[in-house]
Amino acid sequence: MGSYLRPRTIDDALAELAAGPRILLAGGTDYYPARVGRPLDDDILDITAVNGLAGIADAGDHWRIGALARWSDLSHTDLPPAFDGLKAAALRVGGAQIQNAGTICGNVCNASPAADGMPSLLVLDAAVELSSAGSIRTLPVGEFVTGNRATERRADELVTALLIPKSPAGARGNFLKLGTRHYLVISIAMVAVLVVPAADGTVAAARVAVGACSPVAQRLPLLEVALRGCVLDAGLADIPGPSHLAPLSPIDDVRATAGYRLDAALTLLRRALGELGGGAA
Ligand SMILES: Cc1cc2nc3c(=O)[nH]c(=O)nc-3n(C[C@H](O)[C@H](O)[C@H](O)COP(=O)(O)OP(=O)(O)OC[C@H]3O[C@@H](n4cnc5c(N)ncnc54)[C@H](O)[C@@H]3O)c2cc1C
Repeated sequence: MGSYLRPRTIDDALAELAAGPRILLAGGTDYYPARVGRPLDDDILDITAVNGLAGIADAGDHWRIGALARWSDLSHTDLPPAFDGLKAAALRVGGAQIQNAGTICGNVCNASPAADGMPSLLVLDAAVELSSAGSIRTLPVGEFVTGNRATERRADELVTALLIPKSPAGARGNFLKLGTRHYLVISIAMVAVLVVPAADGTVAAARVAVGACSPVAQRLPLLEVALRGCVLDAGLADIPGPSHLAPLSPIDDVRATAGYRLDAALTLLRRALGELGGGAA
């Protein structure tokens, strides 16, 4: 029989993790469904009562998404347009109940290839804050998640926040997801894009990421280079091509074939960029 702890402070939580490994529990929306039909005998560290982990805050040169910030918190927080993609993802994660219970950090820590938060966090250049007794380190989110259900988190570490650097003025994000229906569905493919405008109406910088088409969501550097300097209008939809998808390695599964996933990713990229460019005028 496992044991269950629910500390009130970060120091107490970290002391418990230093004493031995435990399964961390936040919203439980990934944890519980993965254990249906099995006894719940894990040693649990429930972090939902820990002070100081909730909410999304302006921390000066960056935004801080606390470990207990839920998807619905994103929808209710006034954030710059660079967050529009992450906010759109929040509205596509499960349904209202899941958005009210599930955390953005939990989505990252669970490290599913189909985690809807990952592409937007990648284009926002998010970093993961890992705390342990007496130390804090940060890792780019793309280095933190190393594979399907695999992360760089050590057993004595708690992810305390996601840190998002402030984007340049005018930066705007977008996110599109394809599933077999509109909501309560695991993604077949999803894309996030972020565009920074230049004063002359062209693209000063672009960041692009695709999820559910590789073990870990991937940035598309060649497409990002191709977008730089293009006129920021609906014509951005014409830039992505099959060669830009080289970093992806989709699989065939019950939801889609690998070929369909690649085709879907390209179509979503074209639509997401066309929408961003179309809204530029
Ligand atoms: C009906 C349903 C629909 C869903 N739909 C979607 C969807 O559309 N898109 C999508 O991406 N996901 C979906 N999910 C999955 C899930 O809701 C999300 O991934 C959610 O963000 C997980 O957050 P949580 O707080 O519930 O995580 P939990 O279940 O509490 O934890 C998930 C994992 O992360 C670890 N963890 C959590 N917090 C921390 C922390 N602070 N530090 C270190 N480790 C931590 C836990 O130990 C566990 O391994 C769905 C789930 C359900 C049940």
